[in-house]
Amino acid sequence: MRLLCLKENEIGETRVALIPAEVKKLIQLGLAVSVESGAGAAAGLADAVYAAAGASVGGDRAGLLREAEVVLKVRPLMVGEIGVLKKGVLSVSFLDPFRQQELTRAFAASGALAVSLEMIPRSTLAQKMDALSSQASLAGYAAVILAAAKLDRIFPMMMTPAGTLTAAKVLIVGVGVAGLQAIATARRLGARVTAFDTRPVVEEQVKSLGAKFLKIDLGETGQTAQGYAKELSPEQIELQKKGMARACADSDVVITTAQVFGRPAPRIINKEMLAGMRAGSLVLDLAVATGGNVEGSSADGEVVTDGGARVLGCPNLPATVPFHASQMLSSNLLAFITHFWDKEAGRLRTDAEDEILRGCLLTKDGAIVHPALRQS
Ligand code: NAD
Repeated sequence: MRLLCLKENEIGETRVALIPAEVKKLIQLGLAVSVESGAGAAAGLADAVYAAAGASVGGDRAGLLREAEVVLKVRPLMVGEIGVLKKGVLSVSFLDPFRQQELTRAFAASGALAVSLEMIPRSTLAQKMDALSSQASLAGYAAVILAAAKLDRIFPMMMTPAGTLTAAKVLIVGVGVAGLQAIATARRLGARVTAFDTRPVVEEQVKSLGAKFLKIDLGETGQTAQGYAKELSPEQIELQKKGMARACADSDVVITTAQVFGRPAPRIINKEMLAGMRAGSLVLDLAVATGGNVEGSSADGEVVTDGGARVLGCPNLPATVPFHASQMLSSNLLAFITHFWDKEAGRLRTDAEDEILRGCLLTKDGAIVHPALRQS
């Protein structure tokens, strides 16, 4: 069975789906591995290292796609490329399935098995395959490092003969995987951190990291069985905005990571709140790619408000640390392939009834098979 790791072609995507150390492990399992020339270059992984690990490295993308039985990629294949695939190919990548429906239809039409990394269940069994978490934790870290580099002041308190410098105040909105890592990183740098989430269960986690939990009484909120936030009602959104305005005005840095699974990101920070922030303060919107938590944030760079606050849309922070982001993603993908690999038969068991596959398989045998996507 031939597995292919393709080079990413989106601007700014520096990650690669497979690293050389795991090429070896896939070959030991019994797969043949092809890698498109240059696939790892932006992550510091040269073709020669892939070749030394046993991969066959080639530059003919269309030819490689035609021969592959498993295709690994970070971002989705382009619709035009899906038509080239052999029938029954397993394609594994992020697919953004609730927004990229044309892509899902193209996979179905080609007869491919399309697996969306976003849809892998958040279960103990699938923990090693959880690419959303691995990339989110790096995004949380990278957001704080970026903020610390861009802020007009330092993060820690410093008592010096030239005076006492107060610690920066950082507000984290959305305490999932990215938010928790952002809190931990900002605390390590000495900032005073406050955090807010609509799920009350995270209060203890916030406090255990040495941060303050911002209490806003929204009434009944809760979370889904998978641990995701439920969408707020319009009244709850208004209550949240009031509480958040004060916290924003009191912060040097605001980092937003709030998402609601399968829905556009909630709009939490509006223009009035931004106007209340001091000149030079920073807002980083990590949800910009799914609609944004911050009014006016742009995936294309920095926007400065009339009052001088700076808003940065951060669509792909894991790509700023491509070596480790690729290492983690590759490990998630290896765990996925290993789980389904039948060593005796030398093939993947994608026909079996499997809890993980039921969660993340979008298309099979020419049809869209995922219930949530069939509905939408
Ligand atoms: P996410 O990316 O879906 O959302 C980020 C955070 O935003 C969440 O904490 C969410 O509650 C919050 N949020 C949503 N709307 C908000 C609003 N209006 N205001 C403020 N915050 C808001 O979350 P995630 O990082 O993918 O994690 C989701 C959950 O899954 C967490 O409970 C996490 O612990 C859990 N999880 C479980 C496993 C596992 O069991 N294997 C693995 C990873 C994550």
